[in-house]
Amino acid sequence: MQQYGIHWFRRDLRIAGNSALKWNWKKNQGGTLGVFFFDSKFLSRPDFSHHRFAFFLETLKELRSELREMGGDLLVLDQGPDEGFSDLLKKLHAPRPTCVTYNRDYEPFARERDARVSRLIEGLGVSVHTMRDHLVVEPHELQRVPGTPSFYQVYSPFCKRWLSLVEGEDFHERITEQKEALQYLEKRRLGQTIEPFFKLTWKQVFTHLGNANLFEDALDRFISENQKSVKIKIPPAGSLVAYEKLREFRSGVDDYLEKRDFPSISGTSGLSIFFKNGSITPALVLAGLNLNEFEFKQKSGRIQFLKEIIWREFYYHILYHRPSVEHEAFLSHYQDLKWQNNPEWFEAWAEGKTGFPIIDAGMRQLKTTGWMHNRVRMIVASFLTKDLLIDWKWGEKYFMNQLLDGDLAPNNGGWQWAASTGCDPQPYFRIFNPLLQSKKFDPNGEYIKKYIPELRHVPSSEIHEPGLRYIPPIVDHATQKEKALALYRR
Ligand SMILES: Cc1cc2nc3c(=O)[nH]c(=O)nc-3n(C[C@H](O)[C@H](O)[C@H](O)COP(=O)(O)OP(=O)(O)OC[C@H]3O[C@@H](n4cnc5c(N)ncnc54)[C@H](O)[C@@H]3O)c2cc1C
Repeated sequence: MQQYGIHWFRRDLRIAGNSALKWNWKKNQGGTLGVFFFDSKFLSRPDFSHHRFAFFLETLKELRSELREMGGDLLVLDQGPDEGFSDLLKKLHAPRPTCVTYNRDYEPFARERDARVSRLIEGLGVSVHTMRDHLVVEPHELQRVPGTPSFYQVYSPFCKRWLSLVEGEDFHERITEQKEALQYLEKRRLGQTIEPFFKLTWKQVFTHLGNANLFEDALDRFISENQKSVKIKIPPAGSLVAYEKLREFRSGVDDYLEKRDFPSISGTSGLSIFFKNGSITPALVLAGLNLNEFEFKQKSGRIQFLKEIIWREFYYHILYHRPSVEHEAFLSHYQDLKWQNNPEWFEAWAEGKTGFPIIDAGMRQLKTTGWMHNRVRMIVASFLTKDLLIDWKWGEKYFMNQLLDGDLAPNNGGWQWAASTGCDPQPYFRIFNPLLQSKKFDPNGEYIKKYIPELRHVPSSEIHEPGLRYIPPIVDHATQKEKALALYRR
């Protein structure tokens, strides 16, 4: 039988440019089989979201059919990775897989799991090979003084160092080498024939072992069970859809600087949901946009877009070096702020019924679509913490329960930035005024009207003001601002 290796998919749900999958494929001359484990520990986390899970499952389904089309396979098991690998590797006795590969993950939960599962696999006599995939530069590669454990806590120097590294040949190759993956995606988009390049399926291996149904694939069952809890329209998933999105954005990237802050316009890439599960990666996107030269002195849509990608990497860097941010403030002196935590106000915020049109529009966009524009995320997060005086962790958790792109590092980073408790945050005394933000970033009230249909006939001159043509506001901004300042100053 063909020699083979196993690739463990987690948040790298694509073939194109998948680092560890490719390594495995080369080592085994095309004999690479994919596996995915449903980890019950993960599924029972408090930040779990049925909507995000539905999108994830659809992505897995796309991946499985792409792998099969290319001659390969994906086995989805209803077992955690510890139990799953134990069971699988014990049964795969003749011949044994040559290796297990996976791409590295930087979340505290995942790092612990990966260390444990790698030991388990090696203990069963199979080697493990891991690679970088999710980020362009990994947190351990970007230290302030090489060889010391200190890490960047301010975005600007981080960004500068990131750029100087990526301009260097070794790192730069991480972007340029994606060209091959882009060609593959383009061929798939055009429906051109691609000769299958994987050489083995699970069925062939199981048949060889004498039982074609050795394991039951759980994907379809999970999809139909989860579907019962889905209340929004789940967007199309998969790496080809992500690639189409990237192509669309190519023509818009030069306008990104002017348009990205206006929630009524689709001026941003819409790629975050695909980054989250690895249908596409930042390296692929930078290659696809030909973002190879980093002339930071000038301002342009491309440069601004790159800066946002670097913000994402920055938050992963922080989470990796300070995993405690998952549960507490980065700035320890803000750890015990005396939040008021009024549950009724929280409910009004979450339901989009605060009486502040821009806040309510944002929260209704989140609830009905599973996504919210970045500018509005900043406004509603500031409002929750500085106007309603509610702990940022409540907002962070609610976002994770709702967002299709919900991702621990940027979500935690965004919330701690808005709450002024994070690294390099918004200073606590700079408090967003929802009325001014609304007038500036939704001047004609188009965004508000889209999500608050009861205001659709209100002229734009009257749409922003809380209490004017809408339900009464639950708080007074000026009063709450003073309270917030006192809370932080104490
Ligand atoms: C309170 C709050 C919570 C957030 N939660 C998340 C989250 O759970 N998941 C998530 O991916 N992003 C989060 N963000 C960041 C940002 O809002 C989204 O990444 C962005 O809105 C996604 O839309 P896009 O892909 O069209 O972005 P684009 O504007 O096209 O940006 C391109 C990419 O850059 C990255 N990016 C953009 N803005 C930021 C930012 N401020 N911080 C970090 N990375 C950024 C994202 O990966 C994004 O896909 C949060 C921001 C705030 C203020």
